[in-house]
Parts: sequence; C-alpha cells; structure tokens
Amino acid sequence: MPTTDQLLRAPKVLLHDHLDGGLRPQTVIELASECGYAGLPTNEPEALARWFASDVPRRDLVRYLAGFTHTVAVMQTKDALERVAKECVEDLAADGVVYAEVRFAPELHTDGGLELESVVTSVLSGFEAGMAAAAANRSPIVVRALLTAMRTAARSLEIAELAVAFRDSGVCGFDVAGAEAGYPPTRHLDAFQLIQRENFHATLHAGEAFGLPSIWEALQWCNAERLGHGVRIVDDITVAASGEVTLGRLASYVRDRRVPLEMCPTSNVHTGAVKSLAEHPIELLRRLRFRVTLNTDNRLMSDVTMSSEMGSLCEVFGWGFTDLEWLTLNAMKSAFCPFDRRLALIDTVIKPRYAQLTAESLRTH
Ligand SMILES: [Zn+2]
Repeated sequence: MPTTDQLLRAPKVLLHDHLDGGLRPQTVIELASECGYAGLPTNEPEALARWFASDVPRRDLVRYLAGFTHTVAVMQTKDALERVAKECVEDLAADGVVYAEVRFAPELHTDGGLELESVVTSVLSGFEAGMAAAAANRSPIVVRALLTAMRTAARSLEIAELAVAFRDSGVCGFDVAGAEAGYPPTRHLDAFQLIQRENFHATLHAGEAFGLPSIWEALQWCNAERLGHGVRIVDDITVAASGEVTLGRLASYVRDRRVPLEMCPTSNVHTGAVKSLAEHPIELLRRLRFRVTLNTDNRLMSDVTMSSEMGSLCEVFGWGFTDLEWLTLNAMKSAFCPFDRRLALIDTVIKPRYAQLTAESLRTH
C-alpha cells in the first residue's frame, strides 16, 4: 500500500474537476464578506468545510447541490473568479497534479453583470497566475479550461461558440452538465455539431445517475469523445455467478473504441449514484480494461483530493502503483491537449516518476 507521502508525490492527471466545487473554505468566507453575500451557514472556516462535506447527509443529490448555491454566489466578479482559479491551480499543483482540465459554466457567473467573455478571461488569467506561481514553487502544472453548458438551460450553442473562440487562449473543450433525467444530450445537438465542425473537443456528463440511453446519445448523436462519469455503463455488463462477463453492444463499443470514462468514485457515493466505494463499478471496469480515469469532481463538497481519492481506492481495492500509473496514463492519453504535449508529459514526467516510486516501494518491502 503506497504511503500518504508517496501518493502525494505520484504525478497525477485530472480530467474532471469543477471550479465551483473546489474553493478553499476560507476563500468562500472572504469573498462572501467582500461581495456582501449573507447566505453562508457559518463564517468559521472549519465549520464551513464540514458543512460542505461531512455534515452533508450522504446519498442526497439535492443537498449535495445546495453547496453550489454558496460557491457560485461568491464567484460573480472578475477578481473573485481570478482568485478562485489561481488558488485552484495552486491546490492541484500542491497535490501532485501535473496536468488538469478544470471546468466551469460561464452562464452561472453573470449575476453580477459580467459578460460571458469576461467570465472566461478572468478564469483563464487566474489559471495563468496559478501556473506561474506553481512553476516558481517547483511544482509545474499545466491547467486548461473546459466550458460547461447547463443541460437544463438553452444556451449551449452560445457556450460552444465561446469555447471555440477561446481555444487558443486556454480553453481545451466543451462539456454539458446538470440534471440528466428529462434532459437528454440530444437537446444540445446543435452545440455538439458546432464543436465537431470546428474540429474541437467535447466531453459530456452522461451515465452518472441516469442510464444507458444517456450514454448512447452522448456517443452516437453528440459525438462526445469522453464520458463524464459514465458509471451506468455497468448496466450493459452481465457478470454470471461463474464470474463470466458478457458485454452488451454499447459496453463493447465503449471498451473497443477506448472511450475514456471520467470516473469520480467518492462523488458518486455522496450523490447517491453508487452505494459505497467498495461497490463502485470502477474496479470491475478496471479489470475489464475499459479506459478508466480517476477524478475528484468536487474537491470541497466531497472533501477529496487526487491523493486522497487514490489512497481510498488503494485501501478498498488493494491497488498499487501499477494501477495508479495505468489510470494516470489513461487520463493523459485522453486529455484534450495536443498529442505531442501529452507524449512529452508521459515520457518525461509520468513514467519516470512512477518508475522511481515503484523502485522505492520495492526497496522498502
Ligand atoms: Zn461533474
């Protein structure tokens, strides 16, 4: 079992992390006081952290989402967005993340009068500042943005256009998120077709709480390159009492085409999509060699980091560095940054550092 220190030092790649789900509690409090937001349940950082995370009655999506009311409320000015984005990068770098794609929905940050473009430029300049700070601190990290459209709203085409407009300034793709049931991905077909025509990238929250039709539409109608969560793909997999596994047509397609699954195990337990970590399909999907990646989703609401998430899964499933390296390589291969950049990170950072950690753990055993 890797030690906490080794987990921290292991290079990580994060593809699914929400900007409004990862604020520092202290920052939420300070920003609330700056903008005059009086809705926080407490002004004490530790109590607030507990409120967001461990006090949350588990397996309750509505209560889980209530936390975002507060974080989004304090992210309505250029300065606030820039600060949150910078701190996000610094926190990820301190956790050993070497490449991350962090997503946010520009349309949620216009209540204070900001234009969609200003929301994006503020976040991107925060990312730049964070990357500069991390590099100066000798923990270099590359962070790119994914622009999310809310599936319950009707602005997805506009958000897709915005993502394309900022593709050379730090935005690497497009995403759709929000309540799945009743809001099929095909509602946003024009946005996904635009992304496709522009030779750009799209991922899509699909198959988190809702079933196979959502995954099927995401892949076969919207041409999503990755699946946000995608955990319900297990509904198309049968495991017989003998242990024999049969994949349905859709599950076969997902595995054969190497469709990356952006899995977020702890978040799935908290929202009630999965009962417990031990019962999470990530282990079955790993064994069947789907292209599984490991992610945080919402670091504040789920009280997780990449290191803690890796540690929990090593504990529950007996994983070691070989598994962690495999997940990390899967994620790097599935990133929306250019191929040569992915290859460089794999060859010069990920593989050498895992080789070092593996050698180190062999020496101590
Ligand atoms: Zn998500």
